[in-house]
Amino acid sequence: MDLDFSEDEIARYSRHILLDEVGGTGQAKLRAARVLIVGAGGLGSPVLLYLAASGVGTIGLIDDDRVDLSNLQRQIAHTTERVGAPKVESAAAAARAINPAVRIEAHATRLDPGNALDLVSRYDLVCDGSDNFPTRFLVADACALARRTLVSAAVLRFDGQLSVFKPHAGGPCYRCLHPAPPPPGLVPSCSEAGILGAVTGVMGTLQATETLKEILGIGESLSGRLLIWDALAARMRTIKLPRDPSCPLCGEHPTIHDLSAHG
Ligand SMILES: [Zn+2]
Repeated sequence: MDLDFSEDEIARYSRHILLDEVGGTGQAKLRAARVLIVGAGGLGSPVLLYLAASGVGTIGLIDDDRVDLSNLQRQIAHTTERVGAPKVESAAAAARAINPAVRIEAHATRLDPGNALDLVSRYDLVCDGSDNFPTRFLVADACALARRTLVSAAVLRFDGQLSVFKPHAGGPCYRCLHPAPPPPGLVPSCSEAGILGAVTGVMGTLQATETLKEILGIGESLSGRLLIWDALAARMRTIKLPRDPSCPLCGEHPTIHDLSAHG
């Protein structure tokens, strides 16, 4: 690994390099890392900004939406000036303003069964900050099939959840937790039920933290555990998330071998 740093890099990352758990070697790992963020919204914004600030070398960003005024209450990578702009371009501008050295690969398209495996395979790790179940399951299946670690966060109203899925390393997958998508309309979305803006900031920042831990290989992975935060009660807890032997994706007799079920 390339351990040469410019004077600017040493100054920029000095608070990381001071940490025994990171140091120059860890900072070089971050610079060499390639992370894909699905969704440039409430979760994707803080994930992107912190990964860019941290010096993650290459960040892919996929979103086919444009910035809407109703996004700005929580999607902090966007600005009032950029309402109407493609979200990936708006978010990339915010990330570049923080750290011009980071390479942002903007994919202004929708993740679909035709491009998901190829896109996911181009990165080391995927952060899911999408806002709908079809995309969540598509991301989760593509990551499991491509053997990529998935850091997945979700928010609604005053609540957040976070976990790391790496069935290729023996942990559970997303379908061990949710075997199949809920029927359409059963679970409300943020646009239907609302979301306290700062809740997405906390969960996205936790997601960025777990992503940095996975890249650096430090601390206790959240794989096999589910973090649940109730903002109104100001209570955070972590429950065990075991692998399900009957999981349709990573179980003993899997029924999902490709993305064909996603139509
Ligand atoms: Zn599974």
